[in-house]
Amino acid sequence: MALPVFYDKLYKRIFLASKDAIGIISSEGFYLEQNAAHRKLIGYTDNELHQKTPAIHFGKRAFNKIVKELQKNNQYRGIHEIRAKDGTKIPIDLSAFAVKDERGKILCYVGIKRDISNQKKTEEALQKSRDELEVILQGIADGITVQNETGKLVYANNAAGIAAGFPTGEDMVKTPPDKIMEKFELMDESGNPFPLERLPGRKAMLGETNPEALIRYRNKQTNEEKWVIIKARAMFDDFGKPLMSINILHDVTERKKVEKRKDEFISIASHELKTPITSIKAYVQILQKQLEKQGNSESSRFLLKIDRQIEKLTDLIADLLDVSKIQAGKLTFQKTRFSLDGLLKEVVEDMQRISESHKIVIKSLKACTVAGDKERIEQVLINLLTNAMKYSPKSNEVHVNVAKVDSMVKVSVTDFGIGIGKEDLRRVFERFFRISGSNGETFPGLGVGLYICAEIIKRHQGRIWVESARTKGSTFHFTLPRIHSV
Ligand code: ADP
Repeated sequence: MALPVFYDKLYKRIFLASKDAIGIISSEGFYLEQNAAHRKLIGYTDNELHQKTPAIHFGKRAFNKIVKELQKNNQYRGIHEIRAKDGTKIPIDLSAFAVKDERGKILCYVGIKRDISNQKKTEEALQKSRDELEVILQGIADGITVQNETGKLVYANNAAGIAAGFPTGEDMVKTPPDKIMEKFELMDESGNPFPLERLPGRKAMLGETNPEALIRYRNKQTNEEKWVIIKARAMFDDFGKPLMSINILHDVTERKKVEKRKDEFISIASHELKTPITSIKAYVQILQKQLEKQGNSESSRFLLKIDRQIEKLTDLIADLLDVSKIQAGKLTFQKTRFSLDGLLKEVVEDMQRISESHKIVIKSLKACTVAGDKERIEQVLINLLTNAMKYSPKSNEVHVNVAKVDSMVKVSVTDFGIGIGKEDLRRVFERFFRISGSNGETFPGLGVGLYICAEIIKRHQGRIWVESARTKGSTFHFTLPRIHSV
């Protein structure tokens, strides 16, 4: 096919107008021609470049290497740094090819130089910010790991690696996930096996927002035990497909050790206090009888007061003992069947006898039988009623309701007292949690009563919760499974 006559002109225009720098070199290796972009890039005029070799900006060795490659393969591609006329160094992406005649004789070489300074700068800036981020991640005391959508570990900082028993984070990443998991036994707070599907990273990938978990883990080789709080966040693409999950591992082993020592202290202290209190109580009672016989009624009245205080002390110690039993998983129950409404009436009567400040009104009462530890359920009722009176010093009534709800019985104790702010509604059931009044009101207490109630109800397959607002009074509810009469 014959080429149109204007082709030569067309090629020339493309060559001249190209934004990439193009140089044409003779088969002997000297510049023949350059376009405007080339002139601009390296700064030589056409006259200056004439009869010069590209070695002036590539360097002799690099240029020889390029020419050799072109002679062998007809083409060449590579990244180079060239020197412009004014001495500045410019990174370029070079593609070159050899032009041959029909017999394979090289006529000339064409070199296309693309300036990649901007691209390089961007890459360098990106690398710099990556390096900075890496310094931050490595400097953080918390472990940080990143998993891709298949669960494969793609990043771990050194803190994470060391916590998992590796010398560095990189060593951890190189190890397959099942090999990492094999090294450990995962447990929840009570020492039961921790199912892998409850790991926050997995939950986050399934769309749960900000999942977290407290995990106890034992290194099977060293037998060392540690505690960690894991928080996870997942990242999704535009279509909601999970891309990766980022896990933050916060070591709380030291805190848990201190808590354990505190629990042990409470357990020992309450046991040690129990014995002298029991004998003081016995001696007070003997003394009281002797004084009564002698007709010394005034001293006998004082002893009665001492006895009441000892009762209070005994209750406090019993509460502390219960707390340590719960912590050690040793709170046991003597289960029987009993009438909850009967028990409630007894408790209300007893408490009404000693309370001068409040009237306890049973608003509704459904007869119902439950199975459980009667003394422990009584303890819950006493606790809720005592709190209702204690935290409503300016009112004089407490209401009680007992209702049947499906297969459960629901007991509700309502007071018209100081109430509980929204932020504390769940927390009142935590161990040692007490609300400090903003208006300076203080109430005596250890902050364990509701914690014990919650444990007792939970262990009876019931539920306990509170509805309240600050200054608006509170209603504590608990449910227990009902025994259906046949
Ligand atoms: P405490 O011995 O301090 O009463 P509890 O465990 O029984 O311990 O209660 C924990 C905290 O919950 C209390 O310190 C109090 O701040 C709050 N609370 C409990 N019951 C009530 C109530 N009926 N009204 C208002 N606040 C209450």
